[in-house]
Amino acid sequence: MQGAFTENDLSHVVSADKAHVWHHLFQHKALETADPRIIVEGKGTRVWDQHGKEYLDAVSGGVWTVNVGYGRESIAKAVSDQLVKLCYFAGVAGSIPGALFSEKLISKMPGMTRAYLSSSGSEANEKVFKMVRQISHKKYDGKKYKILYRDRDYHGSTLGAMSATGQEQRVAQYGPFAPGFVKVPHCMEYRKDQLGLENLSGEEFGRACADQIEEVILREGPETVGLLCLEPITAGGGVIEPPVGYWDRVQEICKKYDILLHIDEVVCGVGRTGEWFGYQHFGIKPDFVTMAKGVASGYAAIACTVTTEEIFNIFKDDTSDPMGYFRDISTFGGCTAGPAAALENIRIIEDENLLENVRTLGDRMNASFKAMMEKHAVIGDVRGKGLFQGVELVKDRDTKEPVDEADAQKVVAECGAMGVIIGITNRSIPGFNNTLCFSPALISTAEEIDLICETVDKALSKVFG
Ligand code: PLP
Repeated sequence: MQGAFTENDLSHVVSADKAHVWHHLFQHKALETADPRIIVEGKGTRVWDQHGKEYLDAVSGGVWTVNVGYGRESIAKAVSDQLVKLCYFAGVAGSIPGALFSEKLISKMPGMTRAYLSSSGSEANEKVFKMVRQISHKKYDGKKYKILYRDRDYHGSTLGAMSATGQEQRVAQYGPFAPGFVKVPHCMEYRKDQLGLENLSGEEFGRACADQIEEVILREGPETVGLLCLEPITAGGGVIEPPVGYWDRVQEICKKYDILLHIDEVVCGVGRTGEWFGYQHFGIKPDFVTMAKGVASGYAAIACTVTTEEIFNIFKDDTSDPMGYFRDISTFGGCTAGPAAALENIRIIEDENLLENVRTLGDRMNASFKAMMEKHAVIGDVRGKGLFQGVELVKDRDTKEPVDEADAQKVVAECGAMGVIIGITNRSIPGFNNTLCFSPALISTAEEIDLICETVDKALSKVFG
């Protein structure tokens, strides 16, 4: 760790944190008997805490964000130069980084033409929901307003995004939610008994999962359904890649009933899975794509709602109605730091050939965890794409009963003690808290991936024998 951090500084920061910070997703009772962990510095794939302890960060800043690693001076410089020149403008004028970043982003997304900038994944998703509701008013007399979302998917923390979140335990106690949001079943092969599809496999299973979406559409009335909103690979709900055959059938269904398709790339976007976007693995042609976390690797807050010229024109061409354009603003969508950082972030991914690195190392990590299944009966399933991997822990491979969260947390803690920070899907949420998750930086090396896997191996032995 560079730079001195005195004992005095340390005790002041810790007491300020304990007295005044309300941490995200955290039960604060734990801090009555322990100090918070405070990350002081980061470089590359490593971070240091307040005690100077070094960690290999296998979760890119905790929640799949710092894709190009810490301490990137070229991003800091791009942001700082831009801030000195022009920090902000919105509403009545554009900015140079806003235009250049949008152009660059769109060049990675064939079929898409327009980017709407905001500042969080939840917000980017809300923009889609509002566009769809407005399209319903413009084209369908307000009748095609329903938004379908999938069991186990997550789309954000605002009330609209929570209305589209398929994790019961995550949304509990925050209702009532917005009307017109309807859940469809998940498509998780490992738990296909929950879908009543245990006798199917391969493409047949994938198509049957999509057929279950069609059943919901028919039940609701296709003329009332405007949008299907899905994660390309479900993240917090357990790192779930939809089965073969699923996406083709989903797209057939959307076409058949004139339903727009929205892919939430907040986690998978910008290289995490080995393509620029998760949907690009599956031949999907979405109407909307949203993204946030990895867009600027956490160096600045930026989110994007990307769509096609066809959707854009529905708003642009409606000049007879003074209310006909998209009457929305995101104040911080006008910050120039976000697009300046994001533009440099994309340059780094291109110049350092990181997509290739992600594909190679993702396969290495996946194979390594799969090999561990022989030794550790507690591993029920290994899933993922690129540097986005999940290891589901179960008490018994036949019943697939999840391990207790306390035990999964012990694995996380053991890894932390050995200097590797790993994650767990939706901690504190029963039913979703038994999958260890891994999203190391896109710049990781083979040695670092091996170190993560070896550390998990040791931690599993220690906790489960
Ligand atoms: N969509 C997905 C798939 C996410 O995982 C998240 C956050 O984890 C969000 C949306 C919400 O993003 P934000 O926290 O930036 O609002």
